Amino acid sequence: MQQMFDAGCSAEVYATQGRDFPFPDLTGELCPHCRSDLLRKHGFYVRYLIVLHYAGMILIRRYICKECGHTVSLLPSFAHPGRAYGIEPIIYVLTRFYADEKCVSETCAFSVCSRQLLRWFRLRLEQNLNMLIMGLTDVLSLRAPPVTAEAAKKRAGQFFECIRSLNAEDISLKIFERTRKTYLSPLPE
Ligand SMILES: [Zn+2]
Repeated sequence: MQQMFDAGCSAEVYATQGRDFPFPDLTGELCPHCRSDLLRKHGFYVRYLIVLHYAGMILIRRYICKECGHTVSLLPSFAHPGRAYGIEPIIYVLTRFYADEKCVSETCAFSVCSRQLLRWFRLRLEQNLNMLIMGLTDVLSLRAPPVTAEAAKKRAGQFFECIRSLNAEDISLKIFERTRKTYLSPLPE
């Protein structure tokens, strides 16, 4: 299971601090899987991250429940579960395509995104879109969803237009906390 947390710093600063980073301490919290034992520290794993100003390895803090053997990993808010690309570049690519209505070749020309990868991003995004819109409505305390179009592409365009002026990392973390959804994939349980 992965949980996201507000790292409160850039990916570069996070990477530089390594094991010394002040990770949230889940020691002593009940295991979210079996609820019959407390979590303990279980080292780190290394993963690759690409954001606008950093590309390289980062450490991910991990906890384990000795009762059921499940682990809980703490993903910093600039990273996206299951993808090397972080939240920021993923939103950048999807905003160009959906909100700026750039064609596929223009979207890919100004980012490090292949056509195949963009196709996969679109597929996942559109699967998650309604949940993301609900999350955004909730986060912004709106009475009605800020997205009114019916076609998926237009709906996604309105969604990314709404979050354009917001802090990408912050809004993504808040949507995730409410819906357990991220842009491209549900977190693996
Ligand atoms: Zn457990």
